[in-house]
Amino acid sequence: MTAPLNADLHCHSVVSDGTLTPEELAQRAKANGVQLWALTDHDEIGGQARAAAAAAACGLDYLTGVEISVSFLQQTVHIVGLGFDANNAALIEGLQQTRGGRSQRAREMAADLARVGITGAFEGALKYVGNPELISRTHFARFMVETGVCKDTYEVFRKYLTEGKPGFVEHRWASLKDAVNWIREAGGVAVIAHPARYKFSANEEFALFTEFKGFGGQGVEVVTGSHSAAEYVTYAKLATELGLVASIGSDFHSPGESHTDLGTLPALPAQLTPVWTLLQTRIQHAPAPSLTT
Ligand code: AMP
Ligand code: MN
Ligand code: MN
Ligand code: MN
Repeated sequence: MTAPLNADLHCHSVVSDGTLTPEELAQRAKANGVQLWALTDHDEIGGQARAAAAAAACGLDYLTGVEISVSFLQQTVHIVGLGFDANNAALIEGLQQTRGGRSQRAREMAADLARVGITGAFEGALKYVGNPELISRTHFARFMVETGVCKDTYEVFRKYLTEGKPGFVEHRWASLKDAVNWIREAGGVAVIAHPARYKFSANEEFALFTEFKGFGGQGVEVVTGSHSAAEYVTYAKLATELGLVASIGSDFHSPGESHTDLGTLPALPAQLTPVWTLLQTRIQHAPAPSLTT
């Protein structure tokens, strides 16, 4: 039996809310034993050319990636796209629309935090932003750790910035249909990211999966840094029942912040069909190492 492929198809760079550059991530993935890698910044593919070049330079196979923010039944759902053409005009345009409004939302978040005595949060969060179009809750969380409001970003998301807590601002992202279509039409595969993270009822979750499939979505993240071992089993079963391919990714954002490092997750359960079986022609293979004499 051959060893399973070490794939990590979900992580973030400074192009969205990670703290490492695409090059640093590629090197870290390689050092941790990753063989197939994808950078999946939120709502942004501006880092793809750098990531693919860095992957080739350090001997990693690469799939293009993105994590699109979608509004579905009053919640935010993340759809990962893999193996698309990063020059596809409709995808680029759709992502640009999705990013729009983040700055206004961030100002409203800061105003709401000021209400509970946390001042200067907009300017504070901006200091952590690598891409001005992509100010996110993660940047606010880093500011709130730096200023001692919370001990780590996990505490921030328990006490602030989430539904019903100070600093949360309702926002309208892309539609599920559009996100799946952009990915599909650019030649990629759409995957529901970290399904256990959403607070849907069983009926709502069923609606998410059936609508997603109806629009042409094909995959689900089973093994992710956001799932427990019990949740791997739950979503492995669901993938089989619904005929979806399975994906795997750490969702790594930052050393010292993320609990799961690149390349350190257990392999996908053997009975599942991995997402890369649908993407064999889309993998950008690393050049074979040259034999020096
Ligand atoms: P945004 O896209 O601005 O809504 O920011 C969402 C980001 O916050 C996620 O991609 C995660 O990086 C981070 N995050 C960390 N913990 C949580 C949590 N419990 N709920 C929501 N977001 C979280
Ligand atoms: Mn994030
Ligand atoms: Mn996510
Ligand atoms: Mn993510």
